[in-house]
Amino acid sequence: MMETPEYIDRLRIVGGDPALDFVNTEDGDPRSECLRDYGDLVTWSVRVGLLSADEGERLVSEANRRPEDAEAVYRDALRLREALYGIFRAVAEGGEAPERSLETLRGYEHEALSRGKLVQGDGGFAWEWKDGRDLAGMLWPVVHAATGLLTSGDLDRLKLCAGCYWVFLDASRNRSRRWCTMEVCGTDAKMRRYVAKRAAKRGE
Ligand SMILES: [Zn+2]
Repeated sequence: MMETPEYIDRLRIVGGDPALDFVNTEDGDPRSECLRDYGDLVTWSVRVGLLSADEGERLVSEANRRPEDAEAVYRDALRLREALYGIFRAVAEGGEAPERSLETLRGYEHEALSRGKLVQGDGGFAWEWKDGRDLAGMLWPVVHAATGLLTSGDLDRLKLCAGCYWVFLDASRNRSRRWCTMEVCGTDAKMRRYVAKRAAKRGE
């Protein structure tokens, strides 16, 4: 059985899209790392449903056989995440995505499509990555979700949390959501405003 480290167990999944959730694996402000090695990458992928528990177990034993390859995939994942964060953050702030980050994403998407399979199911068509020995297998659906999000429009729903700089899709009707989660960042901000108000009152 795989152990789930506490920092992955605790991680809030609020992006509303696997690519955004992946970006949010760097948590909080100051940012702390929730993907500390290849095993974490697998555990997180199982947690968000990109891999089944069985697929996760298989990848972990594959990684034990090929530690250097696993380490390379882990480094790749961090590079991909940095590129995605650069793009999503720029879009959320109404700016232009950095060309270097886009170039990185293009490369990954080429790779994802060349390894993926377009399949037909009851619910329609979908891309599938089912090579159980591909250590990077969890990255392809993330990459494809990212380009899907960027090309499908509705990017004005893409937001950056005003508290912790996570990215998320705002599904609220009037697009007024400012926080990744009200209970965490929203409440913090309310508390800060309240404390500031009281301090100001006292100073009167
Ligand atoms: Zn937040």
